[in-house]
Amino acid sequence: MTTHTTRMLIIGSGPAGLSAAIYGARAGMQPIVVQGLQPGGQLTITTDVENYPGFRDVIQGPWLMQEMQAQAEHVGTRMLWDTIVEVDLSGPPFRAIGDSGDVYEGETLVIATGAQAKWLGAPGEQELSAKGVSACATCDGFFYRGKKVVVIGGGNTAVEEALYLTNHSQDVTLIHRRDSLRAEKILQDRLMAHPNIKVLWNKAVDHFVGGEKGLTGVALKDTVTGETSLEPTDGAFVAIGHAPATELFKGKLELDSAGYIVVQPGTPKTAIPGVFACGDVMDHTYRQAVTAAGTGCMAALDAERFVAEREFAASQG
Ligand code: FAD
Ligand code: NAP
Repeated sequence: MTTHTTRMLIIGSGPAGLSAAIYGARAGMQPIVVQGLQPGGQLTITTDVENYPGFRDVIQGPWLMQEMQAQAEHVGTRMLWDTIVEVDLSGPPFRAIGDSGDVYEGETLVIATGAQAKWLGAPGEQELSAKGVSACATCDGFFYRGKKVVVIGGGNTAVEEALYLTNHSQDVTLIHRRDSLRAEKILQDRLMAHPNIKVLWNKAVDHFVGGEKGLTGVALKDTVTGETSLEPTDGAFVAIGHAPATELFKGKLELDSAGYIVVQPGTPKTAIPGVFACGDVMDHTYRQAVTAAGTGCMAALDAERFVAEREFAASQG
């Protein structure tokens, strides 16, 4: 068992964690990033990224994250391969224990554990992921200009995704397993009033249909009658919710009703001084690489200030 100590301990190696690392390293915080089971985060499971600023041409998600990691290492970040299984937030120093048995101690802690889209688990979903099946309309909607798309789900996310997709497609279908939506009324009203959106009620996706060339349709089953049908489509957006990776922090930090870490509005500060949260783990609204990177930067700047203030106070006796 080894104990690793740092002025800034970062849990998570997606855009939020790596941006925090880049800023932290350049501020002399000698950050450690514990990477977790998905080094590079969610963008490593996608292909085309067209909305991350700085690149005129389409770039690949895994490539972007390799570059971000290389930049973080280049300025002095230590990247460690481990998964945190327990945290003690009674510091500073804040302690985290890895799956390996190693202990990590940080004068500050930056939580950047992200969130994962929930998937249906229906046959064909994984195989056709990034070949027509997506969980992010803001990310991938652009690729369906002039094509037919479906959105699966009945909450705020599904309705917002359906409305967003009308920017690109004139043929959007919302598929919901019940006969009423749980989305807010104002969103429902906008959905129902939209001429380019139709809703299929009481329909569950049985499986996704397609092949080498990508998705061609979704096979549906009526949840009331059991009747089966095929809905042809070029794109299917699964919008049944996200799960923030906050299991570690239950009972230790305030979480909202959907499980996201609560921060002071407009900041990455949690209720515990010295503990910051950034990226998708504290943001159920925007959930973009660039917003995750932005809040990662904010967390590092605040962490650096926190350490500087403590050191100044200590120097004054
Ligand atoms: P994540 O990227 O989720 O990273 C979380 C990190 O935390 C991972 O490294 C994980 O290993 C680590 N971790 C979790 N738990 C632990 C633990 N216990 N111990 C240690 N480490 C842990 N956004 C865009 O802007 N443009 C796009 O085109 C785009 N396309 C997307 C396509 C797909 C298929 C998906 C799923 C998302 C897409 N997004 C896109 C959204 C974007 O990927 C996320 O908003 C962004 O990755 C969030 O960054 P993050 O750093 O907060 O978290
Ligand atoms: P959600 O409210 O949990 O809704 C998930 C939807 O997906 C529900 O309609 C659910 O159906 C459906 N669903 C779940 N599992 C399914 C499955 N296996 N097969 C088929 N359908 C399934 O999730 P969300 O829409 O992502 O919202 C999460 C939270 O974020 C909410 O608190 C929401 O208010 C908030 N949010 C807010 C905004 C906003 O304020 N603008 C935007 C997005 C999200 P049932 O209805 O049958 O359960």
